[in-house]
Amino acid sequence: MNPVLSIQNISKFYGPVHALNNVSFDVPKGSVFGILGPNGSGKTTMLGIVMDILKVTSGNFLWNGQPGSSNEMRRQIGTLLETPNFYHYLSGQKNLQIAAAIKQRGKEDIPRVLDKVNLTQRKDSKFNTYSLGMKQRLAIASTLLGDPDILVFDEPTNGLDPAGIAEIRELIKQLNRQGKTIIMASHILDEVEKVCTHVAIIQKGVLKTVGSVQEVMNATSADKVVRVDIELSADNLAGLENLLRQMPGILAINNNGTALTIHAEETVTPTGINSYCFEKGIVLSQLNLKRKSLETRFLEITGTQSDR
Ligand code: ADP
Ligand code: MG
Repeated sequence: MNPVLSIQNISKFYGPVHALNNVSFDVPKGSVFGILGPNGSGKTTMLGIVMDILKVTSGNFLWNGQPGSSNEMRRQIGTLLETPNFYHYLSGQKNLQIAAAIKQRGKEDIPRVLDKVNLTQRKDSKFNTYSLGMKQRLAIASTLLGDPDILVFDEPTNGLDPAGIAEIRELIKQLNRQGKTIIMASHILDEVEKVCTHVAIIQKGVLKTVGSVQEVMNATSADKVVRVDIELSADNLAGLENLLRQMPGILAINNNGTALTIHAEETVTPTGINSYCFEKGIVLSQLNLKRKSLETRFLEITGTQSDR
């Protein structure tokens, strides 16, 4: 099966700035594909290129196996690259009618997209009475006009409050369950981990890794030591802390007063800790291996100091 989008050796230079440097990856059909990287890493540039807003310096891309992006192809993609300008004193529905006219999509689609983003009840309320999450859901509704199979979102939760962030993340997952392939840029690790099925990590325009979120989290890179976090406690917390300070492989210990979180090399296992402590006379009341997070992996990949 063709990937929805194939990025092939794309470079983009703005004068001396190498915004993208020979980046290649494929976006599988049916995925929520996260392009993850710190600010300035080239995410928006990449989305601009594949939407034909920016020209590549070199390389190319295929949408559904076809080179470039024809007008016809672009109509099958819903995009949210920057905050749309909605009219504050018009209703959500009226704003969508205007958006539909601009995009030359039929008005008959509006009830459907309002329903998809759960705004049917509030369709007649003025835009300026909407919460931040509702405003962004209306923006996503606008991308759904014409029922595109592919959605491209740039930092879709930027500027939202926690409730709005949760609404948008849930909506993205829901749209994916309904069969949409979603490509989204984000600088938030936690977001990619919670929402995406696949991830490409880019840093300073260079692709660091790509794959399913599971693969990327589980992969061990030859040149970096893999680390784990373990949470544990005992009645004698100070005694436990002192003991662990002498245990090989432990890199950092954080004591919050009721439990310890240790950051350790992967050779340190819960069983190993348990028997080590028991032999030295300390019985653990809690022991919990925290799943290696994408954050840990990200820090390993980008080489950022991970002993926080
Ligand atoms: P991100 O979306 O990951 O934050 P961008 O794609 O916006 O990153 O930017 C990547 C790099 O390219 C940054 O160093 C940025 O300053 C630079 N850049 C982006 N747009 C331009 C432009 N129009 N002219 C010059 N440099 C640019
Ligand atoms: Mg950006």
